[in-house]
Parts: sequence; structure tokens; C-alpha cells
Amino acid sequence: MTKAHLGTAPDQNIQSQQMHDLICRLFPICRSITGDGVRQTLGIIQEQIPLEIHEIPTGTSVFDWNIPREWNIRDAYIKDSKGERVVDFRKCNLHVVSYSVPFKGKVKIQDLKKHLFTLPEHPDWIPYRTSYYKETWGFCLSQKQLNAMTEDEYEVCIDSTLQEGSLTYGEHYIPGETADEILLSSHICHPSLCNDNLSGIALMVALFKYVNQEPRKYSYRFLFIPGTIGSITWLALNEARASSIKHGIVVAGVGGEGGFTYKRTRRGNAEIDRVFSYVLRNSTDASSILDFSPYGYDERQFCSPGFNLPVGCVMRTPFGQYPEYHTSADNLEFISLEALFDSVDKCISAVKILEANRAYSNQNPKCEPQLGKRGLYEALGGQRQTKVNEMAILWVLSLSDGSHSLLEIAEKSGYEFDSIKNAADLLAGHQLIK
Ligand code: ZN
Repeated sequence: MTKAHLGTAPDQNIQSQQMHDLICRLFPICRSITGDGVRQTLGIIQEQIPLEIHEIPTGTSVFDWNIPREWNIRDAYIKDSKGERVVDFRKCNLHVVSYSVPFKGKVKIQDLKKHLFTLPEHPDWIPYRTSYYKETWGFCLSQKQLNAMTEDEYEVCIDSTLQEGSLTYGEHYIPGETADEILLSSHICHPSLCNDNLSGIALMVALFKYVNQEPRKYSYRFLFIPGTIGSITWLALNEARASSIKHGIVVAGVGGEGGFTYKRTRRGNAEIDRVFSYVLRNSTDASSILDFSPYGYDERQFCSPGFNLPVGCVMRTPFGQYPEYHTSADNLEFISLEALFDSVDKCISAVKILEANRAYSNQNPKCEPQLGKRGLYEALGGQRQTKVNEMAILWVLSLSDGSHSLLEIAEKSGYEFDSIKNAADLLAGHQLIK
């Protein structure tokens, strides 16, 4: 190893502030699984990552699915008899059930109620609902708004279009020394929700900035895709390429409360699983590891049995386990700079370990090599002056039989990965391991 794979962490405040600024800019946009909101979002990300934008036409078959019609919306409201908007899409885009078909007309309140969704247990919050694959229309509103609707009839308008178009996603590939890839994927299909959706996008942009400036062994693929149909589409169009993915993470919900959470790959013992176990075991805050389950974000598709890719998922409190999830309370106040920074910091730690992790072979395996005559004893004796730990050197020599990776040596020895890596660099420099 000649190249330094351990770069300096960018300034914490600047980095988390940049993530937060991006989230604030993306927040007002009405996104869905297709449509101009996705294009606008990708356009803003493109200011920081040179994304390739893909447009996949409606009707294209992708495994067992088809690319749906494209949905766009300009306006929607419910007006009372005085002509006042009692529910107004322009005030909050969560008010319209995503993929609502166009509708215009007067509706009796008892019929209208079949199209209205509220959260009685949180009377000020607006829920987030979708109806991608069933043609219907609806509004989401707070329970307080609904309680105030006392008239017999309302004027309803959903000025949307659902027509032939395309599904849009963004992709950026950064080549490394090898064609082996690390996949980083985030969904881009939610409207004004911060933690679920925008925090993941912001983390990916921060990771891109880190990876792009560092020397790297791996190639990196960044995907900004609509949830579920986006990963299915990418896999269908890139089936041959998928085998290059050696490690991957789906990033979702990384700015909210709760400790960092890593969900294992379907394999359960992939290198990425071990790397995150190591990173979290060595972190002092509350963090947790979940086993794989076939529910969640796009890891469901990447880990489907026909691919079984080593792709885990990073988040904080898992989706559905915090009351703000999929409601208007998942807003700019819900996320924090600290959580965003902690999430990106742990992901960068994982990337650093993946980059540096490898197995060496001891070139002098019959009895210990004489370290003193190579000047290594000074390094050993002067632990406090140098970064190389004597015991770490002995562990690397002992376990470098070609099958133990540096991460495994760190796990077995209890020494920090950086310490083991520094010892390996020193020994490799003296041709004692290769
Ligand atoms: Zn969601």
C-alpha cells in the first residue's frame, strides 16, 4: 500500500451546514416516482455531482414491472362555498395523495370524506400518502382542518396529469484502481419530507465530495432513484454490471433522532456487514445493527435472491418507528446538523476501512523475522512517539497468512483498524508482508 487511503475529515460544521442547506433547497419541491419534481431535484444535485440523467420511457418492461405513466401536478385544492381554499396544495404538497388522477367537480362532504386522510392521533400533522399503482385521487389534511369542514358540499380540483412520459433517475460513476464497485443509493421520490428522502440525498452528496477527492482502490456508483421502481429499473437495465458491485449501502433517514442504525445485507456476513459492525462497535454513542429483512428501502431489490448483492442499509431510527415518519412533522425542524454529521462520519469511516482492507502474506513466516536488524525495533520501542504499536506489528505478522484481512486482524486483536493498518504499511515497506 503506497497510497494513503485515510484522508482528513472535512470540517464538521461546514460539512453538516452544506448538507442542511441542500435539504432546505430541495424541501419545497413536489417529488414523486416520476415527473418534473424528480428532474428539478436531480438538476439541483447536478450542481454538486456531474450526474448522468436517465429517462426510461413509460411502458418499458423491467423484470416483472413496467415503467408507469409520468405524473405531474400544478395545483390542487378543496374550496368552500365562499371560494376559500380550505385545503391548498400550494401551501403544502403533502396535501395531495401522490399520483392522484385529475379531478374537478363539486362533491358532497360524505363522498369527499372517502378521499380524505388524516392522523387523528396527531391533529396538527398532515399524513403522506401515495397511490402509484391504483388509479384514484385523494387529499391528506390535518384532523383540525377536517374538523373545520362543516359545509355540505365542496369544490374539488386536482390539476394533475398522468400520461406517457418517462421515469427519471440520476447516476454518477467514479472510476477507481479496480473495476470492483461500491454502490451508494438513495431514493428521491418523496415530496416535502426531510428525514425520509432528503437526508439521504444530502449524505450521498457529502460522500461524493469525500470519495471524489481521495485516492481510491474501488470504483464508486452513486444512484439517485425513485424508491422500488427505480432500483428495479436500474437492475433490469444493468444486470451484467451488477456483479461488479462488491459492497453497497442504501442511504435513507439519516438526519433524524435516534442512534445510527445499520441493517445487514441478506448475506448477513458480507464484508460491508463486518465493516459497519466494527465502526459501530467502536463508536461511543447509541447505535444498533439489524438483521436483514425483506422489507425496507431499495436493499429489498439489490438483495433479492437473483442478485443477492452485498448491499446493506444505513439509517437512524428505522422507518415507521418514529411518529413523524411519513407526516408533515418530518420537516426541517425534525433533522439536526449533529445527526447528519454523525451519519456521514460513520459512512466515511466505513469507506476508509473498505478502501484499506486487504489480506497480506507474511514473507518470513518461519519463526518471527528479526525486527531489530531492520530498524523496526525503534518503531516498536517508541510507541509513544510513533503511531505504530508493537503488538499490532506482531498481530499482523502472525495472522498475515493470505486469508485474514486487516479488519479481521483488528477484530481478533482488539486493536484499532488504523493501528493495524499502520503496522501493515510499515511491514509492507520492509517487504515482510506482501
Ligand atoms: Zn418513505
